[in-house]
Amino acid sequence: MIDIGFKISGHIYDNKIGDNGMEKGFRLFRNDGKAYKKLASVNCMAISEYNENILSALTLIGGLLMLLPVVAAPFSKTKSNAIPAYLLASTFFFICFFIFKLSFMKKYTIGGLYICASVFFSLAIYLSVFHSPNMRATILLGAFCIIPLGFIDRPWRMNLFIVFWMVVHTILAFNLKPQYALDDTINCLCFSILGCFIGNIMVWVRVEGYEVQRLLTIAKETDVLTGLFNRRKLFETLAILETTNKEKPTGILMIDIDHFKDYNDNYGHAAGDKCLSLLGEVFATFAQNFRLHFYRYGGEEFLAMAYGCGEKELLSIAESLRAAVQSADMNGHHTTISIGVAHCGDEQVENYENVIERADKAVYAAKSGGRNQVCLEEH
Ligand code: GH3
Ligand code: MG
Ligand code: MG
Repeated sequence: MIDIGFKISGHIYDNKIGDNGMEKGFRLFRNDGKAYKKLASVNCMAISEYNENILSALTLIGGLLMLLPVVAAPFSKTKSNAIPAYLLASTFFFICFFIFKLSFMKKYTIGGLYICASVFFSLAIYLSVFHSPNMRATILLGAFCIIPLGFIDRPWRMNLFIVFWMVVHTILAFNLKPQYALDDTINCLCFSILGCFIGNIMVWVRVEGYEVQRLLTIAKETDVLTGLFNRRKLFETLAILETTNKEKPTGILMIDIDHFKDYNDNYGHAAGDKCLSLLGEVFATFAQNFRLHFYRYGGEEFLAMAYGCGEKELLSIAESLRAAVQSADMNGHHTTISIGVAHCGDEQVENYENVIERADKAVYAAKSGGRNQVCLEEH
């Protein structure tokens, strides 16, 4: 078991990952719904994307496969009078394929998956019980085995869905196909138990995979000491800003702690580290009220990107930040910061490193002006 504990935006995230999927599969019998809910909610984007892709692929493949028996009908004695059912199912899958391409339908993906699976079960039960009551079920066995493996949802809901169709089939089979009803029921039961068991394990394996990926991304982008974004994330963000149409920052604040060397000398390096950590919390709290993203730029230097504000507002935000740090309790001590402000407004910035340089020059001006102050870059 891997234990990943780290700090992001002032909070400690403690995560234990790495139980193997098999172990998680057995948890199905231990009602581990809460653990699933927690993992699924933090990875909902990845899970939705997976389900959307699966729904798209399954409806397209389903639509095409349903046409195969239609093509084979002239050469088969058993298929010809089932053509309408196959055509109906094929048309339904193709319609679903196009409907679920519409962006407003994305939020109904899980519903779409259950509806498509229900259509598949209905077709398989029709073929087994109504169309060919003198033959053992075949396609139906595949349905009970494959459907629980197909997508990601709460394991108990997927299992309940399979139980529902098992009950529907059993009732119909014992009424309309008595000579094979017991055989079909036993076979379907075996395949659905296998399908649900492996399917539940697959759900855990996939969800845990997303969780590992999410934690690694956070670890990669986070500065361990302050919990803020790190320098790597800053440069990744800058590259994205310069190459895409994502919302651009309207200003940059460069922040440097005043006389931090003296702080270390007076209270010790460990206290200096604690101060950086507490400063990270002050910044994270501040970012909840203003549209600022903080990055640890270097040792005791920080950078904040400000979004959607004009020059005056930017200056007043920087001033509030300076005052917030001055009044914050740093483990019984106090410290101050100097802030350099560079405003870029809505101008199409091609190189944000120039803006950072401008903010950096403004910090020097704040330092020479006596520290614990905000300085706007000189145009
Ligand atoms: P100034 O007001 O001019 O900024 O003075 P300063 O002493 O803060 O000077 P400078 O900005 O050059 O600060 C560098 C010091 O920051 C040196 C180093 O002791 C301290 N520092 C940098 N990174 C860390 C860190 O991760 N932990 C601790 N405890 N101290 C650090
Ligand atoms: Mg410095
Ligand atoms: Mg300093």
